Amino acid sequence: MNGRIPIVCLGSGAALNDGRGWNSLLIDGRILLDLSPSAITQIHRLGIDPRTIEVIFISHLHADHLFGIPFLFLEYRIRYERSSPLHIVGPAGLPERIESLCTLAWPELDRGGLGTRIEPVYTIVREEGEYEAAGLKFTAIPMEHFGLSAFGYRFTHKGKTFAYTGDTGEGESAGQLLEGVDVAIVELTHPGPVDDPGHLDVEGVSRLTKELVGRGATVLATHMSETPPPIEGITLCEDGKTYWV
Ligand SMILES: [Zn+2]
Ligand SMILES: [Zn+2]
Repeated sequence: MNGRIPIVCLGSGAALNDGRGWNSLLIDGRILLDLSPSAITQIHRLGIDPRTIEVIFISHLHADHLFGIPFLFLEYRIRYERSSPLHIVGPAGLPERIESLCTLAWPELDRGGLGTRIEPVYTIVREEGEYEAAGLKFTAIPMEHFGLSAFGYRFTHKGKTFAYTGDTGEGESAGQLLEGVDVAIVELTHPGPVDDPGHLDVEGVSRLTKELVGRGATVLATHMSETPPPIEGITLCEDGKTYWV
């Protein structure tokens, strides 16, 4: 039976993948988890109005999680002008990275005075803690991802707790992030066992979500390099699909 909150999978692929769009998910039309370039084309395919997005959580500054920003800003300047502020959450260095991406992306528009800048309201996450963006209180927890400043996010929306790992290896912090949530959105880069300290494989995801699956929580796997075999209790995200929680 359909629940109350839609989670739209705009992409479920890892940086290296099998033809999936790169990972990005939209919760309730308002909360966007990471923003890959291919997420923008999926937004159009699904007929989503991007002005409903209130806050974007960027887990870390890798291209598959961030490089959709210049395309989204172009939409906001040309086809979908916003009247409300856009909030963006992410690690230190994010505003500067977005600024240089926009400069690189559409130089002639900038030179012509059209500009592709909108002025987002940033919430910069530097360490584990409680933060707020667009009226949404959230917890940020550092993840294990090749020594980068990478964060998992956890928040409550319409009475349900959500956790999103972004990219991470299997460690205590990922377990801490997922503990007791209603909806876990977990990276699952590798279908088979791989020695990769910065990403999860099927066994790692199964271990991390065992307790959640046991009590019937929703576990969505995303950021896949290829489709793993079915895992009991875990939904493997498919591009363009909506999951109700
Ligand atoms: Zn990634
Ligand atoms: Zn990454």
